[in-house]
Amino acid sequence: MKYYSTRGKHSVNIQEAVLNGLADDGGLYMPAYIPQLPASFFENIENKSLPEIGFEVAKLFLEDSVPDKVLKEMIDEVLNFDIPVVPVHNNIYSLELFHGPTLAFKDVGARFMGRLMSYYADGNAMKVIAATSGDTGSAVAAGFYNVPGINVYILYPKGKVSPLQEKQLTTWGGNIKALEIEGTFDDCQALAKQLLADEGLQKHQVTSANSINIARLIPQSFYYFWAYAQLKKEHKKIVFSIPSGNFGNLTAGLLAYKMGLPVNRFIASTNINNVVPQYLESGTYEARPSLSTVSNAMDVGNPSNFERMNDLFQEDVAKFREIISGYYFTDEETKATVQKVYKESGYLLDPHGAVAYMGLVQYQKEQQEDFNGVLLETAHPAKFIETVEESILEKIEVPEKLSAFGKKEKVATLFPVDFQQVKAFIKQH
Ligand SMILES: *Cc1c(COP(=O)(O)O)cnc(C)c1O
Repeated sequence: MKYYSTRGKHSVNIQEAVLNGLADDGGLYMPAYIPQLPASFFENIENKSLPEIGFEVAKLFLEDSVPDKVLKEMIDEVLNFDIPVVPVHNNIYSLELFHGPTLAFKDVGARFMGRLMSYYADGNAMKVIAATSGDTGSAVAAGFYNVPGINVYILYPKGKVSPLQEKQLTTWGGNIKALEIEGTFDDCQALAKQLLADEGLQKHQVTSANSINIARLIPQSFYYFWAYAQLKKEHKKIVFSIPSGNFGNLTAGLLAYKMGLPVNRFIASTNINNVVPQYLESGTYEARPSLSTVSNAMDVGNPSNFERMNDLFQEDVAKFREIISGYYFTDEETKATVQKVYKESGYLLDPHGAVAYMGLVQYQKEQQEDFNGVLLETAHPAKFIETVEESILEKIEVPEKLSAFGKKEKVATLFPVDFQQVKAFIKQH
């Protein structure tokens, strides 16, 4: 199968799509067609394990570029933690995606991308650049840690990530280098773009690790099939609510749907960075600078994967509306929801999961029909401890996996916003 750029006719094979990350014309790679799963896949899906589902789905995208035995091992390693479907109340379920090493769903995509890139790089050294405002960087660091042949450079803004987030970026050592930039996240991202485009660095095989890489989307589709498998015996329609920022997670759900997964609807749930819900309402897409919120992993004013969704729906808002509804919520509503759900059902949502929960409730109000609603719980509540404790007025426990970072020693190299200095460091290390 070929992969083409959303901005042109340029197409490549899967190896190039993964190693390049972004197409040369600035577009995002999409598969030339969406592979279809046979009816037999769904007939006994409830008897399959998550890695088995992952293998069958991945195989359709990767074809013979990775031998079956290697792909099986890769997927077993990536998915060595649970992704349970936990009842919240009535017909609402939480798909807990936060049981990986950094307690956020980004672990799934980053771990798969790390292993797939290493396999395709075939022993050639690579340099992976990641600009981060917090969470992406730690998932990428964890996902690539000790992956042979790959060095990772994390660019993060000094003083603009939480102390615990900083520890999750700077305490790995080995092949993970933390670059602390005396600037903003936008400066980090601009530096990363410049590094990726630099001719002098090209011969070092530099690539990017943000959500534009197709290798992150593919594994994120696995867990939609998995959630369906867990709920299939109830014979109800299924609605997924996705707390969205760059819309990678929702785009992965759309891939699953287009591959044949029976989904009744997707809810695009956002905070006040609501360009997609507004697009669904008005038909006009208007990117804006992002605003800060308590669900800060979704503070995105111009979601990169909108380009992929537009491609899937031929830039036709009517086609979006056939399968996606969008809602957005304020921080006050988010905190009140964390509290209400905790008090009424004992289930503790993180601020992102709370936004997804509200999306489901809102949709339910507007519908008569009965369905099972699945919210994607994208982070462990302890990752957003300040907001969560302030909402429920109680102290919460921090899992050992998270607090362990706090005890480790920070190692980072400080840089001004200076392209030449950053580039020299990346060349040498
Ligand atoms: C990144 C992130 C999101 C947003 O995911 P997208 O795929 O960018 O839409 C939501 N919640 C958490 C906790 C995240 O880290």
